[in-house]
Amino acid sequence: MAKIMAVNAGSSSIKFQLLEMPQEVVIASGVMERIGLAEGIFTLKYNGKKEETHPVLPTHAEGVELLLKTLVEKGIVKSLDEISGVGHRVVQGGEFFKDSSLVDDRVIQKIQDLADLAPLHNPAHIIGIKAFQKALPNVPEVVVFDTVFHQTMPEEAYMYATPYEWYEKYGIRKYGAHGTSHKFVSQRAAELIGKPLSETKTIVCHLGNGASISAVDGGKCKDTSMGLTPLEGIPMGTRSGSLDPTVVSYICEKENKTAAEVVNILNKKSGYLGMSGRSNDARDVTAGMNAGDHRCKLTFDVQAKRIVDYIAAYYVYMGGCDVIAFTAGMGENLKHLRKNICDRLGVLGVKLDEKLNDTFSDERIISTPDSKIQVWIIPTNEEVMIARDTVRIANIK
Ligand code: ADP
Repeated sequence: MAKIMAVNAGSSSIKFQLLEMPQEVVIASGVMERIGLAEGIFTLKYNGKKEETHPVLPTHAEGVELLLKTLVEKGIVKSLDEISGVGHRVVQGGEFFKDSSLVDDRVIQKIQDLADLAPLHNPAHIIGIKAFQKALPNVPEVVVFDTVFHQTMPEEAYMYATPYEWYEKYGIRKYGAHGTSHKFVSQRAAELIGKPLSETKTIVCHLGNGASISAVDGGKCKDTSMGLTPLEGIPMGTRSGSLDPTVVSYICEKENKTAAEVVNILNKKSGYLGMSGRSNDARDVTAGMNAGDHRCKLTFDVQAKRIVDYIAAYYVYMGGCDVIAFTAGMGENLKHLRKNICDRLGVLGVKLDEKLNDTFSDERIISTPDSKIQVWIIPTNEEVMIARDTVRIANIK
């Protein structure tokens, strides 16, 4: 038995889950937010309790110190020696990382070198890694990359038709994102439909604030909708998804903006927020749609149409599909969006069981028995994947 800390460090936050492995039981979880600001927020869940405090968290290092001290004080662990490994989510591993990896100085440098491709994320992950190194110097740390699962994409799927030198000089290609979630959900999908993973074709729809679709054939990713960055693909909470790149130069000219400013708008002010003019949160846009707002309804229709474009393309690319799996905040909770998508897939023999689709519960099938493709809701669990990889890579018994 081993306790593993799964960590997702951002520029001003640290999300964590402490798991007992190999049972995969969550012992404690929570988040430290507003690191570096006058007052932080520390939320801790354990033993069915949820506690919130407002400590000052000048840096990530103080945050980690406080977290570990609190775990002992509350008796969640008897001593810090019980923590056998720390696994960190890292957004961008480029082409260099083909698997999760034990942390050493060379690995940290490589994550830093890849920061151009994930400027908001990779530097923050390094700060988190160093904070845990300082607090738990004798505990192995493992980095688990969002991009690794997509590294099996064939060349024809990850290459852009841009000058080849851009790929050679700058690594311009598709890397994808949410890989840990796509891996978890596709593995679970095979278990649920009772087919060996090696023979299962799954289309995973990870629909959260960030959203991506992937084609997983025999447990390996064949294609995914996100690209060089998480801007490509389907429309999301605040991201536009794919568009004609000429839009950028056109708006630069019309509004006297730089390319970076326009790309920032495509990342932060577009998608649900930009289209609906209300909110990036699907619940607010749903309320608008239900009140008869055309732009809110259009927001969902545009997204559903684009999701179906990917599903159709991946169906053909994989030569069929056994299961379509919905996951993440919207995939798990937004029944009208799932219906909107599945109704458009009738030509592929998809039949939604509306009653099952409407029922609130966790993991469940939502297609009818005669549907040619099974449709499932599978709540994602990236932390468990991080903990599994930490145990495997650090060889923790
Ligand atoms: P991320 O992790 O990318 O920030 P999430 O997976 O938490 O995103 O998904 C956030 C989205 O899920 C939001 O648009 C939110 O409106 C939607 N969502 C979350 N819970 C519900 C719910 N109970 N009903 C409808 N939508 C929900």
